[in-house]
Amino acid sequence: MSETVNTFEAQQQGRPTGPLVRGYEVIIGFETHAQLSTASKIFSRASTAFGAEPNTQACAVDLALPGTLPVMNKGAVERAIRLGLALGSHIAPRSVFARKNYFYPDLPKGYQISQFEIPVVQGGSVSFFVGPSTGSGQAEEQKTVRLVRAHLEEDAGKSLHEDFVGQSGIDLNRAGTPLLEIVTEPDMRSTAEAVAYAKELHKIVTWIGICDGNMQEGSFRCDANVSVRRPGEKLGTRREIKNLNSFKFMQQAIDYEISWQIDTLEDGGKIEQATVLFNPDTGETRAMRAKEDSADYRYFPDPDLPPLVIAADWIERVKAEMPELPRVMAERYVRDHGLSAYDAAQLTQGPALARYFDDAVKAGATPKLASNWITGEIARRLNAQEIGIEAAPVSAAQLGQLVKRIADGTLPNNAARQVFEALWTGEGSDVDAIIEAKDLKPMNDAGALDAILDEVIAKNAKNVEEYRGGKEKALNGLVGQVMKASGGKANPAQVTELLKARLA
Ligand code: ADP
Ligand code: MG
Repeated sequence: MSETVNTFEAQQQGRPTGPLVRGYEVIIGFETHAQLSTASKIFSRASTAFGAEPNTQACAVDLALPGTLPVMNKGAVERAIRLGLALGSHIAPRSVFARKNYFYPDLPKGYQISQFEIPVVQGGSVSFFVGPSTGSGQAEEQKTVRLVRAHLEEDAGKSLHEDFVGQSGIDLNRAGTPLLEIVTEPDMRSTAEAVAYAKELHKIVTWIGICDGNMQEGSFRCDANVSVRRPGEKLGTRREIKNLNSFKFMQQAIDYEISWQIDTLEDGGKIEQATVLFNPDTGETRAMRAKEDSADYRYFPDPDLPPLVIAADWIERVKAEMPELPRVMAERYVRDHGLSAYDAAQLTQGPALARYFDDAVKAGATPKLASNWITGEIARRLNAQEIGIEAAPVSAAQLGQLVKRIADGTLPNNAARQVFEALWTGEGSDVDAIIEAKDLKPMNDAGALDAILDEVIAKNAKNVEEYRGGKEKALNGLVGQVMKASGGKANPAQVTELLKARLA
């Protein structure tokens, strides 16, 4: 194990120092268990459906009863290949299953089948944007977290402590459920970065259809390895927070753990390597057990399973069936629509959101304007109402219409907002009809503006003089006056042109 630690150490050389917390640099690495969305178990035909009566879905193979043999589930392998393709990893042409030996009541067979020395997915990376720390005034930053590996393994059963007094129940339904354990280098440098990584990974596994992403049901659970060090020192000793199954708890747990470790060191204490659990009721992390090293598991190749061989044409077949990846889609938005990388990343947070943007553009919207509306006003309202884009009361086609009317000069800002409001509340459904009904037609025939221009010029002699004297800014005041007098219906660009012409 000391070897592994040194590898992590070497991997960190030359990486920039992260933001300091009370003089310490925070180092975080993640292990994520993604439950693969196959109908049957990883080595048997038993069902993986969630919520069945306890102990009705574990078959003899899942329990490793004598005389049974595990058989690899092809669907689980294909899902591992999908992840490898999505993250730019190496997909091992030959990987090996190993027995990880330990005793636990929810693992009556005494070992878990996993992969150890040669995992199926090797390397790769996850890139995402992290918002600036509040008040720093900086822009969102793009981060990349490198993966060490992702390996296939079976899940264990579950101990139930709540329904029984003075005893625990064991439910083995989950035994043999296929998991992909996705392990990163210790590349994260803050809680915000860790949570952003987890969200991005969650987006990817659901996008490529390998995991249902249901965190409450435990389909996507993260272990956060956290350590702190003074800048320039060797990596500190890590503690591993187990089974984080919500992004909110993840943030609370890591924040607490960082403070706890710094407090301990500042008090002259030492951090012991440990596995800890987060208690959402107290907001604290607490050591569950001293952490085993891998030598304790006595890994050896499972004699019941041949090596997993993945031929190049299998990878090609899986590739051909993959949906367009969010990363590729975002690159396309930058290239074809001139969006910023950040905006493109925002729009590819989920397939439904990306489709909404595509449809708005198809309906005639200028991409940049559509993107601003979607990531701004629409995102705000969806958040406030806690609904997804699928439930947005304004359709992509309607947004497309609205944006078209903004781009062609029909709707100045203020009027556009009124139309949007009417669409959102259901007061109207057709953009042009709303413009008509609300009398928002712009005053863009120069004749109609003439009287207003005369009046504003007459009443603002001082501004006029200043502008003529070379003070460009004085024009803004005049444009503002005209806009006001027109009830917001004039087009500011046109007003500016008309004023300039008159005052020239
Ligand atoms: P295990 O926890 O199963 O023993 P590993 O040794 O492979 O597994 O490492 C687990 C995780 O711990 C990896 O995600 C790695 O990035 C992270 N990690 C390793 N060293 C540190 C450290 N000093 N601080 C924070 N995370 C670390
Ligand atoms: Mg671990």
